[in-house]
Amino acid sequence: MPAPPADLKYNSLEEIEQIHKELRDSFQTGKTAEIGFRKHQLKQLSFLLNDNVEAIVDAIGKDLGRCRFESVFAEITLCANECIDAYENIEKWAKADNKWFGVVWSMHAPKEIKEPKGTVLVMGAWNYPISVQVGPLVAALAAGNTAVLKPSEVAAHSAKLLAELWPKYMDPSMSRIINGAIPETTKLLDLRWEHILYTGNGNVGRIVAEKAAKWLCPTTLELGGKSPVFIDEHADFNIAAHRLLWAKSINCGQTCIAPDYIVCTKQVQDKLVEHLKRVQKEFWPQSPRKSKDYGRIINERHFARLSGLIDKTKGSIVLGGDRDEADRFFEPTVVADVKPGDSVMSDEIFGPILPILVVKDIEEAIDYVNDHDQPLALYAFVNAKNMDHIVKRTRSGGVVQGDLMLHYTVPLTFGGTGPSGYGAYHGRAGFDTFSHTRCMVSAPATGVLGKITEALMASRYPPYTDGNLKM
Ligand code: NAD
Repeated sequence: MPAPPADLKYNSLEEIEQIHKELRDSFQTGKTAEIGFRKHQLKQLSFLLNDNVEAIVDAIGKDLGRCRFESVFAEITLCANECIDAYENIEKWAKADNKWFGVVWSMHAPKEIKEPKGTVLVMGAWNYPISVQVGPLVAALAAGNTAVLKPSEVAAHSAKLLAELWPKYMDPSMSRIINGAIPETTKLLDLRWEHILYTGNGNVGRIVAEKAAKWLCPTTLELGGKSPVFIDEHADFNIAAHRLLWAKSINCGQTCIAPDYIVCTKQVQDKLVEHLKRVQKEFWPQSPRKSKDYGRIINERHFARLSGLIDKTKGSIVLGGDRDEADRFFEPTVVADVKPGDSVMSDEIFGPILPILVVKDIEEAIDYVNDHDQPLALYAFVNAKNMDHIVKRTRSGGVVQGDLMLHYTVPLTFGGTGPSGYGAYHGRAGFDTFSHTRCMVSAPATGVLGKITEALMASRYPPYTDGNLKM
């Protein structure tokens, strides 16, 4: 077991139990369910993000070698926007939904009420230490739960910063940060929660779901997968190349919804590669290695994993290929003429390698995607007819036509399907994930209305005759 980073303090198992108890007790007081209290916490969270931009950028820079622009844009702004969206919509989302089922039922005032679930656990992944960790927590708080956020120990500087900042802004009776590695996470998963939202790989996702089953605790699993990009001859290759190379190189390709591979004909591949080569020079005129805008691979383990994929591929490296273990630098690398079964087609790449799988036509491309796990995202630069066909014939968590990853940046329902996960968050979907929809019927049981409804419903009582069914 690797030792915790020297300056990241892990919570003790006793502390974890104590914090869990405090949050459960606090939930029982009902104070976190008050809309005003929730809004105050959302406002505080947006202050935490906006007041500490430089500290957050610095911590993520130490973890991932990432530049300021990417961290501000893809972490702080996105997450602060989630806070604002929840803050502005919370009354609407939390409002009881009165239902109309006809005149007779109107006397019973049927409705659905949104209630916080209780005490919930959010476990995040290292690749976007703010947006995929604090982001889901926004939804948990908006819904009025008490919550623990367990950041990934892999992004240790970010985890440490969150633990330091949290008590300065957030009410400890509603949310807490718990830091740790597998023993601490295992302790957390042994405790009783009313919901767990986990972001990370599918193997740990299975552990989370199994542990949660003991308590019949609902889970949301935000996992990964190999997100394909369909390109046909109708694409604008210049635009497609810009968008592709950006999506594959932001955060060094360590993005759950990064394009994993391209699937196209040989003709399309050859044209696209020429454009990708030109765009690579445009983005990093000297080289990605010398650019302040290009990040690094998170650790040696992932660097070795990515190197192994490149060393074993039978495809041809047509762009990039430069790497430096000491610096964990891995150049955006395009591998052409890749065949099914190649090393780069086995698992999610989660790094700056972009394979191009050559197929004879769109049908073969669709069949390939359908023969494999449903991806988290699906992208296409194709004409309208092909787009319609692809969407109808395939399954994926989300889909973007003509661009990549944009569906994450708006408060659309976001989540996977099949092995890329289940459940969803972002905007209203996140609020609903962390809320229980409680149905309620208020039957008049006294006075005149009580007598009227009693007469209307009397046929339910025995002794039964066929006439009873005519009610
Ligand atoms: P990770 O290693 O940071 O692990 C995630 C969490 O699981 C951490 O909190 C960690 O402490 C915990 N954990 C690890 N091993 C555990 C164990 N044995 N028992 C209990 N808990 C354990 O992250 P990762 O898994 O390397 O993340 C990368 C994956 O996450 C990729 O597949 C990526 O696609 C996916 N991802 C998905 C999304 C999404 O929104 N769907 C977002 C980001 C990342």
